[in-house]
Amino acid sequence: MNATMAAAVFVDRDGTLIEEGGFLDRVERLAFYPWTTDAIRALNHAGLRIVLVSNQSGVARGLFTEAVVEEVHSRIESVLQAGGAHIDAYYYCPHHPDGNVPRYAQHCDCRKPKGGLVDRAARELGIDPTRSFIIGDRWLDIGLARTVGARGVLVRTGYGAIEERRPPRDLAPDAVVDNLAGAASWVLMHMDRPC
Ligand SMILES: [Mg+2]
Ligand SMILES: [Zn+2]
Repeated sequence: MNATMAAAVFVDRDGTLIEEGGFLDRVERLAFYPWTTDAIRALNHAGLRIVLVSNQSGVARGLFTEAVVEEVHSRIESVLQAGGAHIDAYYYCPHHPDGNVPRYAQHCDCRKPKGGLVDRAARELGIDPTRSFIIGDRWLDIGLARTVGARGVLVRTGYGAIEERRPPRDLAPDAVVDNLAGAASWVLMHMDRPC
């Protein structure tokens, strides 16, 4: 633990920040949960960095381009900012080993539960992952928390309710909550407080 480095909340995108709708290939299909902006704003006010970390294998599968991913992220950011909230940085993995777009069809170090996206954020934003939190709707998000030494919160939105019923033997979340609002409350209760 390094007191000069920031604590962050790494938030999954689909099924956590916004509704899970299969591969999100058009910005028009983007749907926020009613609590999303309030939850992010509460975390902003607590002085935590908010970093989106998302697997977007649809790029490797040829379903949509990185430009569409970027467009979705800028739409997310403008909706948040209209409500006085913001995400500090957006990171995603466009790869998948079974993809059909050659430049993305690869094993990489950034597809969750691997830690590449968090490592990059830690380097670029001065974040200490061991003081940080991961919020997501899949066991791979909890696996990411384990990989980087953060605390992992599983939400029941998206695939979360299904995931909760089939827990992996070797992976336990630090908390299971109904949604991002519940996760934000849990983080606020468990973050380091300055003395
Ligand atoms: Mg998800
Ligand atoms: Zn990757």
